[in-house]
Amino acid sequence: MKAAAFKRQNEMEVIDVPEPKADTGQVLLKVHDCGICGSDLHACQYGLGMTPGSIMGHEFCGSVYELGPGVSGFKIGQRVAALPFRFCGECERCKAGLEIHCHKLQGLGLGQLPGAYAEFVSCPASSLFPLPDQVSSREGALVEPLSVGLHAIKRSRLEPGMTVLVMGAGPIGLATLIWAKAKGARVVVSELADGRGRLAQKLGADIVVNPRVHNPAEKIRELTGQNPALIFECIGVKGTLRDAISMLEPRGQVVVVGVCMETDEINPMQCILREVSVNFVLGYDRADFHETIEALNSRTIEPRPMVTDIIGVEQVPAMFQMLRQPGDHAKVLVEFPD
Ligand SMILES: [Zn+2]
Ligand SMILES: [Zn+2]
Repeated sequence: MKAAAFKRQNEMEVIDVPEPKADTGQVLLKVHDCGICGSDLHACQYGLGMTPGSIMGHEFCGSVYELGPGVSGFKIGQRVAALPFRFCGECERCKAGLEIHCHKLQGLGLGQLPGAYAEFVSCPASSLFPLPDQVSSREGALVEPLSVGLHAIKRSRLEPGMTVLVMGAGPIGLATLIWAKAKGARVVVSELADGRGRLAQKLGADIVVNPRVHNPAEKIRELTGQNPALIFECIGVKGTLRDAISMLEPRGQVVVVGVCMETDEINPMQCILREVSVNFVLGYDRADFHETIEALNSRTIEPRPMVTDIIGVEQVPAMFQMLRQPGDHAKVLVEFPD
């Protein structure tokens, strides 16, 4: 089968490899769509201990192709989304619903286990979530990134009627925007790229500001008479956390969703003077996946405008190069023919 794999730092390649098998407790999926994530770009750029030939891709939807020994409860052809990791299900963290913090966690598509930029991927049966008929396969590949946005909202103090700031309208910022709107907030988005700003508007942002032209905190003061009390930092480059803290109302909260790979600086004194809360969030839990699938099924959320490109697996290496430059792309899906 064809797959897109890490070749060396800053370079992906298309490889031909044997189809994986469904081992005990595993399900072999035929992949329909798999999204390209900022973490993929980071992992490729920094290497992050990945060995050459590692098949990437962790935001996927597929249909059940083969059941491994000991697996029941799934039908061949059934469409599913999946938590992109293997967890033990027995440690105290797994039992507490913190599977993503499992002591034995192994991720799919980031070097540990083969991912889904491939015609087939093998997943633990315990990580699968059946998709209702009304949820398309492309939407199925958005369940993972949308769950990241939902998780950020659930870890925040957001309440209906609040005015919040989302910094950055890349896929994570857009997913956070979608859920902030669904939960009844008024949302100001700050974004430098015009195309992404327009996407934010399409996805329900009340106001989009270009921070080079307008100070987003000032916009929020115009609306509420106060600085933002809740900011979602979805950019993840050096300095953006400090920017967020500097805009915050006293006793406000910054939720850090964007992944900054460098050491960054904040000024504790500035944080103390405003009694700032900063919360870092990681991924999602099973409840987030369930709620996202339910919201897609009931059309409570409408994320389709997030998808800016749909490509074949052969185009992955070139697309990785392109996405390294800032621009108007948001979610890019790698699609496999049926
Ligand atoms: Zn991702
Ligand atoms: Zn565990």
